[in-house]
Amino acid sequence: MPPRKRTKKVQHETPGESAAQIARRNIRGRRGGLKDMPGMPLDILIEIFGFMHPRDLLNLARTSKSFRALLMSRSSHAMWRASIEGVEGLPKCPPYMSEPEYINLLFFPHCHGCLKPNVQTIVFEFAVRYCNACKKEMLFERVHAFDLLQSINGLGGFTGFPFAMIKDGHHLQYHKPEILAFRAQWDLLPDDDSKKVFAAAAISRVKMMHEALPALHKWRDEQKSKRSVELHQIKVDRFHSITAKLRQEGWAEELDLMSSWQQRAMRDTFASKAEPLTERGWQKVRGDAVAYMEDIKKRRLDAARRVLLRGRFESFAKSHETYRDADYRRTADSDLEPHLMDLAVMDEFRAILDVDKDADMSILDNAEEMRITFDDAILRWRTDRRTEFTTMVTQSKQVLIPEGADPLTLSSVLFACRLCKRADLRYPEVVAHVCTRVVNHEKDLYASTAARYWSPQCSRSPWSSRYLSLSTDAMSALPPILKACGLDPKHATLKQMDDCAARLTCTGCSMAVTGTVGGAKTRHFTTYFTYNCWTALNRAIETTQCIPRGGKPAREHNWVRVSKKEEKAMKKLEADPAAQRKAIVISKWLHGCNYCDYAARPRKMAMHLTSRHNISVEAEDVGTHAYRHHDGKPKPNAVYLKRFDDGSATAEYGSLIMSPLGWDMDSDYDYDYDSDIGLDLDMDMWDWDMDLDFDF
Ligand SMILES: [Zn+2]
Ligand SMILES: [Zn+2]
Ligand SMILES: [Zn+2]
Ligand SMILES: [Zn+2]
Repeated sequence: MPPRKRTKKVQHETPGESAAQIARRNIRGRRGGLKDMPGMPLDILIEIFGFMHPRDLLNLARTSKSFRALLMSRSSHAMWRASIEGVEGLPKCPPYMSEPEYINLLFFPHCHGCLKPNVQTIVFEFAVRYCNACKKEMLFERVHAFDLLQSINGLGGFTGFPFAMIKDGHHLQYHKPEILAFRAQWDLLPDDDSKKVFAAAAISRVKMMHEALPALHKWRDEQKSKRSVELHQIKVDRFHSITAKLRQEGWAEELDLMSSWQQRAMRDTFASKAEPLTERGWQKVRGDAVAYMEDIKKRRLDAARRVLLRGRFESFAKSHETYRDADYRRTADSDLEPHLMDLAVMDEFRAILDVDKDADMSILDNAEEMRITFDDAILRWRTDRRTEFTTMVTQSKQVLIPEGADPLTLSSVLFACRLCKRADLRYPEVVAHVCTRVVNHEKDLYASTAARYWSPQCSRSPWSSRYLSLSTDAMSALPPILKACGLDPKHATLKQMDDCAARLTCTGCSMAVTGTVGGAKTRHFTTYFTYNCWTALNRAIETTQCIPRGGKPAREHNWVRVSKKEEKAMKKLEADPAAQRKAIVISKWLHGCNYCDYAARPRKMAMHLTSRHNISVEAEDVGTHAYRHHDGKPKPNAVYLKRFDDGSATAEYGSLIMSPLGWDMDSDYDYDYDSDIGLDLDMDMWDWDMDLDFDF
């Protein structure tokens, strides 16, 4: 059966084609002109066809009836033989096959079962190519031929095997068409003698096949390795052609700057197909190849720019060091000011730093000029933050601002953070809120380099309010609390909240434990959670409704102020330094470094002080080199009020274990600049980064 016609014509433009190859192409190209050829004298035809590749000869036989008649006739034997001999390394046609069969098997890669194209495996034992599906279909297990083998054996006197077989895993497989054809003939044979002749012919055919196999396998292996060398060479040539084209288009410098792994990556991208590059092929990949080069170039320039910027940031940091004299220590309020990273991305410093490669940087050494610039920039930054928060309030139109009042001082103006869910952030401390400096994937090369310079582990970015908004939760939770405290919800200020003496309980959820105290006179008591304005607000934000005991339906908190006498008892407790230590677990307080803008809880701060500033200090004593961060005060333990049945009351700090309602008192905001711990900002690391060519 003829192979399926190829629809895709590959145009080869391989240089160095031999004359014979070109002749071959021309024969293929002008078929009409050959129609008289079969009538030519045979010796001339042998002469001509003998020079042709047998594959082309078979193709020719398939072009017309007359060629077919000529080439398939017995008399053409010599032509075929000459043609086969003309191909170096090609084994002779085995005697059990005809030349056209043989050539079809070797050079036409279609499945002999279903004509599926591009089937590379030849089963030489069966003289076929099969796709996987047909292979399953066409192979037989030994059992299907068992009766035949027995009858052949029964005739006696044979050595050798009548059927071809292959080993497929552990199984011997026969060729179904061969067995079926044999059986059909066998059954027709009239007597043992003719059966003997028939079986002997089959046995000798198998013998011939075994003799032919080594040469065929050798040829196949050679073809394979030749092909893979060829394919590789085609890919290499293709890549060379592509780079040559790119060079013509002005990418020579960029190509020369590419590292060998970049070139390999590019070859894998553009020369994965073993296809010579034609002009049309080039037009197809040109766009992608140019885009690829543009990307490579951009990455290279970006990487170079980053190196340049880092050098400038280093000078900038030195200039800032001069601006802050040697005795300068950061305090909690330093976090209300811009960090160095924030300053670096401000326009006034960008104008100095984010400029041409050859720009003059000497201004950074001018302490006098820089002092003015730093002063102005820091002031502007603080003003900008104030404006930003004020605008957040005024634009929301949710707060009624009394005539002449500063909105940022009002108790109704609190901010919420989308990231950590805090909803009671106040100005100005909100500026120091840790989430404002949480890492943001900066698109801008300058900003991303600045972020990476001051936070090598990518835990921080320049200050941003993107997670902050006016806290509507606080706005709705606060009025009943303020009322219970005796304050006017519309006009109360944050300062008034701070100063407020009132202590509250919620009648819905404060009721806690009842018990007795022994002694001279047994007394019964009931324990209540108590709150000040701020802790009440915190509670109301966290659980908007009471958590009633005993399955009662939930309801709004009902804040009630405790008696003056009870308040006195509580304030006495709060003022007692020994009791104070119980109020807050210091080890949980976020601390800021006195010497740089790193923040962490004491244990990690101690590690930071050692690794970055060469200061050895225990976690309990980090206070000597770090300050308590505005944003990281742990939630205080609750104050419990014990009301005795004789009318007296005592106050004490509760701990988590004592918490009678079992709610989590331990959920402090856990953020710190954790990942930057123990980091040495040495420049080796930067250089190493460069090779990775990171992108944000
Ligand atoms: Zn098939
Ligand atoms: Zn937050
Ligand atoms: Zn309640
Ligand atoms: Zn530090």
